[in-house]
Amino acid sequence: MSLLETDELYVEYKTQKGLTGREEIVRAVNGVNLDIRRGEVLSIAGESGCGKSTLAKAIMKLTEVKSGEIFFGGKNVITLKSKNELQDFYKKIQMIFQNPYSSLNPKMKIGQILSEPLEINTNYSKKEIERIVEEKISQVGLDKSALNLYPHEFSGGQRQRIAIARALVLEPELIIADEPVSALDVSIQAQIINLIKYLKDNFNLTFLFISHDLSVIRYISDRIAVMYLGEIVELGLTEEIFQNPKHPYTAALLSSVPQLNQENKITQIKLNGELPSPQNLPQGCKFHTRCPYAMDKCKTQVPEEKIFSDFHTCKCFLYP
Ligand code: SF4
Repeated sequence: MSLLETDELYVEYKTQKGLTGREEIVRAVNGVNLDIRRGEVLSIAGESGCGKSTLAKAIMKLTEVKSGEIFFGGKNVITLKSKNELQDFYKKIQMIFQNPYSSLNPKMKIGQILSEPLEINTNYSKKEIERIVEEKISQVGLDKSALNLYPHEFSGGQRQRIAIARALVLEPELIIADEPVSALDVSIQAQIINLIKYLKDNFNLTFLFISHDLSVIRYISDRIAVMYLGEIVELGLTEEIFQNPKHPYTAALLSSVPQLNQENKITQIKLNGELPSPQNLPQGCKFHTRCPYAMDKCKTQVPEEKIFSDFHTCKCFLYP
């Protein structure tokens, strides 16, 4: 059963253009239909600027939605307004941010940082809060003594462990991890990814995982949604997407991870041009300006979703 669903979700916001200061509309999320099932890691893959983070913010009610619906645990997220409804929502859904350096209050000890959400959102006793905080810090692989220290006394990887512990204290149903390792040294990234995988496997957590790093995505995800200019162009089980990508953009994205072919030559599909700006979206299939297979109709008509199996869909005219 789906824990979270989005239905024809559109998000746009205004921005000012360079020196002219002219107002422009950024169409960041364009008709996203997505479902996240309990206990899975669903990853969103795509280039920087494709709308991944805006989608996450919309789900978290951190940015306004232009149209469409978001359902979490069967409740319409967009209409949640009262203090009680919002408090309940933010207990059940937590976010891990890209930068562990800025996401922890430097003036608070780790113990306070982890206790605070419990003090605000629950009626637990001081003793119970202490027990939960100690349990969570140890689940993320840190010693209890960390609770008496300040964020600056930890390395980047340790700070991200603390940020994960903070996300866990309220025992959320869904964790949104937005590029959680991209600000860390490569040597530390694997440790954090392994920690997230361990938490998912052992505590049946559900993750929406956002990353531009396909090797990380392949390792951690059950399913992958490929996003291009604010639209999900392909969705499927991780190995199906990697072994048998249907959408030309997915194929190009996967080939951007260098691989040796049978002649030991590195293979890569080169895309035409740059990612168009979300202020100026192409008509028809949004990928047609870069697609090596583009046909005339791709310039004017929008491809509908084709269903290949229960788990695999793609939007492209190449498939009848
Ligand atoms: Fe390429 Fe046309 Fe398919 Fe779009 S619909 S991905 S332009 S072939």
